[in-house]
Amino acid sequence: MPDNDSVVADQDLTELRPDELRSLIGLPNVREALLYQKLESGRVRCNICLRRCSIPSGMAGYCMTKVNIDGSLYDTIYGVVSAAHADPIEKKPVFHYKPGSVCFSVGSLGCNFRCIFCQNWEIAFADAVSSMGVCEYNFGPEQLVRRALDTGSQGVAWTYNEPGIWLNYTLDSAKLAKQAGLYTCYVTNGYVTPEHLEMIGPHLDVYRVDIKSMSDDFYRKLIKVPSHTGILESAILAKTRWNCHVECVTNVIPGWNDSEENIRQTAGWIVENLGELTPWHISRFYPHAQMQDVPPTPVETLEMAKRVGEEEGLKFVYLGNVRTKTGENTYCPSCGRLVIERSGYTTRVVGATQEGKCAHDGADLNVVM
Ligand code: SF4
Ligand SMILES: [Zn+2]
Repeated sequence: MPDNDSVVADQDLTELRPDELRSLIGLPNVREALLYQKLESGRVRCNICLRRCSIPSGMAGYCMTKVNIDGSLYDTIYGVVSAAHADPIEKKPVFHYKPGSVCFSVGSLGCNFRCIFCQNWEIAFADAVSSMGVCEYNFGPEQLVRRALDTGSQGVAWTYNEPGIWLNYTLDSAKLAKQAGLYTCYVTNGYVTPEHLEMIGPHLDVYRVDIKSMSDDFYRKLIKVPSHTGILESAILAKTRWNCHVECVTNVIPGWNDSEENIRQTAGWIVENLGELTPWHISRFYPHAQMQDVPPTPVETLEMAKRVGEEEGLKFVYLGNVRTKTGENTYCPSCGRLVIERSGYTTRVVGATQEGKCAHDGADLNVVM
């Protein structure tokens, strides 16, 4: 692969002081990174996410969690956990996989995106070399699985920050979680490489991916990535090659991705590429970070998005971050009966079989029980 395939300029990388570099060597959370290539002049290319940073010696990649030390790339967040909670899976949000189950969820530091509306910017934009004081350091795969089992969780999720940059840890812990009979879930912005999926895919059950917009302008201006190229392709791979259960989320931001045209394109893409039974979560935007001047999404816009999604053929469109009487329930697309009732994070399966079919007429609900 040529050096210029990176979408990151050198000035967007972080230079580390020699004492910072030295302090990393030998720490249990610092492991030789997966999926990197040595280039000329001591540079390395990281192929964990689609930024494919080309990193000179002594510098950290865009996400600030991968460091080139003397021509080898190191991951600095192995077992570094900034948050750990036993959550209902509905909180991810994932509605059609083990509904009502508890999913032990962990996040680390860093991100490959720079969303100016990020809700988790304290951990996502943290410098993983110098900000580790806020984290648990030795949260290895064994501890993750033990905590999941101790809390009665049926699965584990990597979430809060971006699992797409955490491959060393997610891979080891996914393997161990599967051995322990737990399901595994990525809550991701989807900016992962096919090589990343090739490694994690065999051990991943659920791929909960953001489809933020169909417009490259949106990605360039609000997220600081050049385009959404690769995100959609990775979602297709997760479903078709790795047989993951896929659910999509679109956070609708007034003035940015709330046009009927964009909503229609997004829904149409999901129908065509992931199938009409793919759950689509439309979530309400609230002012955050550098987008304090944008108002919350009007409820009418969310309702328009749901209607448009259904017109495009999606059978399961949900509204999130907003109180509605029925916007989180699942209804059978064939007979219209209520099959899964949700209120807050209380979930009751009222009309679906163990095979994920409508109990009344046997229609496929694309639910894994
Ligand atoms: S994981 Fe980090 S270092 Fe690697 S390509 Fe992505 S942003 Fe760059
Ligand atoms: Zn039915």
